Amino acid sequence: MTLNNQVVTLEGVARHALVKAGAIEICPRHSDITIRVGSEEKERHAHALAISLLPTTGALWMQEDLELAMKDDLERAAVVECPICLELKSSESEAALSLQSE
Ligand SMILES: [Zn+2]
Repeated sequence: MTLNNQVVTLEGVARHALVKAGAIEICPRHSDITIRVGSEEKERHAHALAISLLPTTGALWMQEDLELAMKDDLERAAVVECPICLELKSSESEAALSLQSE
């Protein structure tokens, strides 16, 4: 497996592996929001994948740095649901509630 040209940063490798392994998903409506699936198995798989990709980048990154980048990306990700979608949903249901009470 080779990496495409978009994956040239350490963060890019981390993100690529996490998405590929299904450990994080990108919100279909908000492409800048990542969602942590919360599967230990998928996160382990992503980890193994990222390490296997490291030599193919041709860059001299340390495995520890890659692990840190993955940890950061997982910590930045929203849990279970996109917060923007969640907010939209709750304001929609509030609007529905206020309509009902009138
Ligand atoms: Zn969203």
